[in-house]
Amino acid sequence: MNQDIRVGLGHDTHRLEPGGPLRLGGIDIDFDYHLAGHSDADVLLHAITDSLLGAANLGDIGMLFPDDDPANQDKDSAVMLTAACDLIRDARWRVVNVDCVVLAERPKLVPYKQQISNRIADLLAVLPEQVGLKGKTGEKTGGVGQGEIMQAMCVCLLCRD
Ligand SMILES: [Zn+2]
Repeated sequence: MNQDIRVGLGHDTHRLEPGGPLRLGGIDIDFDYHLAGHSDADVLLHAITDSLLGAANLGDIGMLFPDDDPANQDKDSAVMLTAACDLIRDARWRVVNVDCVVLAERPKLVPYKQQISNRIADLLAVLPEQVGLKGKTGEKTGGVGQGEIMQAMCVCLLCRD
């Protein structure tokens, strides 16, 4: 058995509420809704964080940053992702790549994709080419398609450092 690589999966959901801007992938997007949650509710960074922690078998974002802890109120998800990166580095893992899907009816991700990829690459200390990012709609059905929620998925690959 090859013990030198690990795959991780992350998934997250947050409700959309009126009033912008939209914090997504560590950047602020000019939009008339924002994601609601205990922290800054950055659904994409949460999915990435969980995929990294899962790959290294180091728990999950809720264990690290409980949502009933007042210290995590409105917390910047970039701080949480950076903390997860520190943990996986301490456990001698390195990020090979991440591949993400954002499920949202609006806004269109295309104009922001490069900026988000760059930001994620910075946070993970990898190159933008190691960050895959795709946007999908909900085809006007379900919570995503009705614009009630946004979801994100991320798969990551780690290798021994
Ligand atoms: Zn979340």
